[in-house]
Amino acid sequence: MVRAAVLPEQGSRLEVADIVLGAPGPGRVRVEVAAAGVCHSDLSLANGTLRQPVPAVLGHEGAGVVVEVGEGVTSVEPGDHVLLNWSPPCRDCWFCGIGEPHLCERAAEWADIAHATLPDGTELYPGLGAGAFAEQTIVPRAAPSRSRRTSRWPRPPCWAAPC
Ligand SMILES: [Zn+2]
Ligand SMILES: [Zn+2]
Repeated sequence: MVRAAVLPEQGSRLEVADIVLGAPGPGRVRVEVAAAGVCHSDLSLANGTLRQPVPAVLGHEGAGVVVEVGEGVTSVEPGDHVLLNWSPPCRDCWFCGIGEPHLCERAAEWADIAHATLPDGTELYPGLGAGAFAEQTIVPRAAPSRSRRTSRWPRPPCWAAPC
């Protein structure tokens, strides 16, 4: 289990809780989160201005280190330092096929696919497909982009240990 800031329902406050992440499935990547920004979109997802399946782990501006990759993932490997792209492209639709992933028809669907559970088995949904307000998250393979090694690593994210 890892700790996460969980949004139980829209309009409620975030609660720090243990969550369960399985091994990454095909096309998925498990990332140890080193830092996550707090964006106004997180507030909009939390207060109901934007649609968000719940319970959810918000946080879509994260960076960290790849821990494990699922079957078929060749773009990153364990140990890579990465940035997380929110609403990543699917790599399968027509727009992705013609090299226009920024127009991906399915990029918003990741937020509707559970990526973790609470200890009682309740499914958790990742805000904008990222779920970065957690010690670790599981994201689609197109989400992590390799970055330079971050000088802040392994400092914990601010929500876990105020800096
Ligand atoms: Zn944002
Ligand atoms: Zn696509």
